[in-house]
Amino acid sequence: MQYYSTNNHNHQVSFKQAVFDGIAPDGGLYLPTEIKPLNSSFIRSLFQRSFTEISYEIARVFVDYINDNDLQTIIEKTFTFDTPLVPLSENVSILELFHGPTLAFKDFGARFLANILDYFNKDENSEIIILVATSGDTGSAVAHGFYGSDRIKVALLYPSGKVSKIQEQQLTTLDKNIYAFEIRGTFDDCQKLVKRAFLDTDLKNKFRLSSANSINIARLLPQSFYYFNAFAKVKEQGKPLVFSVPCGNFGNITGGLLANRLGLPVKKFIAAVNCNQVFCNYLQTGVYEPKTAIQTISNAMDVGNPSNFARINALFGGDREKILKKVCSYSITDRETRAVIEELYDKNKYLIDPHGAVGYSAYKKYSAERPSDYHTIVLETAHPAKFQDVLPESVSKNIIIPGRLQEALEKQKKSILVSNDFKEFKSELLYRLK
Ligand SMILES: *Cc1c(COP(=O)(O)O)cnc(C)c1O
Repeated sequence: MQYYSTNNHNHQVSFKQAVFDGIAPDGGLYLPTEIKPLNSSFIRSLFQRSFTEISYEIARVFVDYINDNDLQTIIEKTFTFDTPLVPLSENVSILELFHGPTLAFKDFGARFLANILDYFNKDENSEIIILVATSGDTGSAVAHGFYGSDRIKVALLYPSGKVSKIQEQQLTTLDKNIYAFEIRGTFDDCQKLVKRAFLDTDLKNKFRLSSANSINIARLLPQSFYYFNAFAKVKEQGKPLVFSVPCGNFGNITGGLLANRLGLPVKKFIAAVNCNQVFCNYLQTGVYEPKTAIQTISNAMDVGNPSNFARINALFGGDREKILKKVCSYSITDRETRAVIEELYDKNKYLIDPHGAVGYSAYKKYSAERPSDYHTIVLETAHPAKFQDVLPESVSKNIIIPGRLQEALEKQKKSILVSNDFKEFKSELLYRLK
């Protein structure tokens, strides 16, 4: 399978090249050149297959260079956790995507990318250094994905005092091949340091640098796997299926759109957003106008210019009418999000996190407008324990903190505190990772 840049269809590269590039040289994002529907017997056989079997079949379509056995091993190493579907009623279920090591759905993409890079790097003789600027969840998912690899080191940069206590513990208690740089500055400063590091000749001569960033194609592809698995788990078979997806950079929902192109029958995707509603506005008006992100309680979705908009546009040939046939969007306020968290706990005894709650709230708006002759799956993207501090008190007091999170909370924090000055960061990086 070849991959093309969303900025130029004629710029095509191999899977391996697309993974190493991350972003195309012309600034575009990579997409598969050909997405053909899978054999319909595969869709019918989903019910009898495990998550890893399904994942393997789909990965096989997209991934070259890796033989069947090795791809199988990568899939089994990557997806060591479950994706339960919890029915709330005959009309709606919750797909829990937070059972990975860092308790957020980013584990799917980050672990898959880590294992793929680790595999490709076996042919090379040098060590890779992954540089990641993080405002929270992405960094810990990436770090956990690479944790223990003997030829890849990870340098995480996070803004001092600007991530939650839980996030900081997850970032700073791994040790081994993971180095947490605590930057005296903002998230933007962290991103600037990473960008400069990639341009720095001394660093480039010393290390092979890579970014593992969120737009890498190897992070996107695995986010199509669980849609197939969820389809097979729904009890109300035969009803059309709707997915409600809490969106920030729109990678998760793009995974769903790929699944649909591969032949998974889906009636509609609901792009659920918080007050950062650039995409929602675009569907309504046809004008795409990036904005500065506004802070909300579903903070992993605070994105003012979603990077995967380019991919969605490319998948539909830039035709908004076509997008509208498959995708609708609702914007949800923090007030509505909190109300839904309380409602789900009171009525269903279900504890949902603020991101999943945006998805559920959007589903409610969608279903209020039409008869319920379909089944909706709401994607729950994080464990509520990660967002205890923003949940209503009546709900948060009932949360049981999972063992692995508790463990991280009890460990000794270990970070390398530096200023946002590039020279200082560079010399620390050279010294610590030598
Ligand atoms: C990253 C993230 C999202 C948004 O996913 P996108 O793929 O960026 O749309 C939603 N919820 C949580 C908890 C996340 O970490």
